[in-house]
Amino acid sequence: MIVVQGGDERKRNNQLGKERACMPLRTPQEYIDDLRKMKIELYMFGEKVENYADHPIIRPSINAMAMTYKLAQEPEYEDLMTATSNLTGHKINRFTHLHQSTDDLVKKVKMQRLLGQKTGCCFQRCVGMDAFNAVYSTTYEMDQAKGTGYHERFKKYMEYVQDNDLAVDGCMTDARGDRSKSPGAQPDPDAYLHVVERREDGLVVRGCKLHQTGMINSHEILVMPNNALREGEEEWAVMFAIPLDTPGVIYVYGRQSSDTRKLESGGIDTGNIHFGGQEVMTIFNDVFVPWDRVFMDGETEFAGMLVERFAGYHRQSYGGCKVGVGDTLIGAAQAIADYNGVSRASHIKDKIIEMCHLNETLYACGIACSSEGRPTAAGNYLINVLLANICKQNVTRFPYEMARLAQDIAGGFMVTMPSDKDFDHPEIGPLVRKYTQGSGEVPPENRQRILRLIENMTMGAGAVGYLTESMHGAGSPQAQRIMISRLVNLQHRKELAEKLCGVKDRDDIDWE
Ligand code: SF4
Ligand code: FE
Repeated sequence: MIVVQGGDERKRNNQLGKERACMPLRTPQEYIDDLRKMKIELYMFGEKVENYADHPIIRPSINAMAMTYKLAQEPEYEDLMTATSNLTGHKINRFTHLHQSTDDLVKKVKMQRLLGQKTGCCFQRCVGMDAFNAVYSTTYEMDQAKGTGYHERFKKYMEYVQDNDLAVDGCMTDARGDRSKSPGAQPDPDAYLHVVERREDGLVVRGCKLHQTGMINSHEILVMPNNALREGEEEWAVMFAIPLDTPGVIYVYGRQSSDTRKLESGGIDTGNIHFGGQEVMTIFNDVFVPWDRVFMDGETEFAGMLVERFAGYHRQSYGGCKVGVGDTLIGAAQAIADYNGVSRASHIKDKIIEMCHLNETLYACGIACSSEGRPTAAGNYLINVLLANICKQNVTRFPYEMARLAQDIAGGFMVTMPSDKDFDHPEIGPLVRKYTQGSGEVPPENRQRILRLIENMTMGAGAVGYLTESMHGAGSPQAQRIMISRLVNLQHRKELAEKLCGVKDRDDIDWE
């Protein structure tokens, strides 16, 4: 159902638009200043957090997102990091682009690999990019089928996002309550975000989205339904965008293992000294959404299409970002092998080759599903969904094997090493350094830093992005297996075999 009323651009948006009208590509500093101006209700460790942009636990995740702004400023990366908008013709950050060709899809994966290499973690901005592309094509098809007006409205929203170079968090995963029950059958209807009131000027929604990557590092939130819906579940079929600091939205920051190491000065024990990921529980406590920001309201039959497309794009994304992060882990494994004096051992060389093989296999999947993309009815390009699911299925496994190999090469000192404060201690420091000397002239601090980086990526805060997110992000492994079973044509394969052995449709060979 759609009720088109109101339609005024929100005052706040007009202000942002005016401020930013001349700056389609924002600098990292401007982006961080935007976050400093946000007045949001955020909790961490049971306390309210003010000025979160400068909080030492949160800041590494902001730095990672800021890298998407920084690289877009550099001529060397212009081709990967920027694109020309199909809506306005303006030069925009690729993270706000609606893919116009298979070349765009390939460049997206390459851009993500580059950012993974530069940050060694989840840089968070892809969820919005994947949501834009899924919402764009789905609203078009929804309008064609139902005579609604969502697509034009969404195009207007995208122009605002592109021209102001906004970071937008794509928001999908609901709390989900009893997993055996659909949204409409839950004892608590709020287990899935839904409409609780329909007003003349907009909707009021209630619910909670979990695992929101980069949520409070974004300017805006783009909310989508969690799964396919049936008739009778109209109130859960809702899609909309709101600014991060909309009243009624409450954010609770997710803990990560070793996160309090970020509070220690010096940073060596954190491993990745500048960058990290971010996951946030986001509660919508009766939040008002004006009509001009609503992109689905009751069209249950299109929820499945939207979810499938969004998941497909994000499964493609992992063939870029995790590969870039994997590059840094391979580099760390090679470095510690050198520092320990074992890089010539044949089994070490073989393990590093295996890591490269696994990593490049993921990349090959990311490139393949992009190259085999096709245009949607709306004109933007969709990946080959089967190959994107194959890509993500491999991502649920290979980074774990790469982490195992990196830990094998690193040795046990990665987890028994004294803290950085012991290395610096006036009395025991010299002794600690003497007995942590590795090969040749390599200073003990280099071993210390690389080991901490491997620890971070394979079992510390960085493992959230590199491992657990590889498992569950963009859908857990079983979700891809369901898609694979739906998309692979087994009957065709059966017929190929039957033909070869003469069971049916036997070809006569006439060249004997
Ligand atoms: Fe981007 Fe990867 Fe993080 Fe998803 S997991 S937001 S694709 S960096
Ligand atoms: Fe993710």
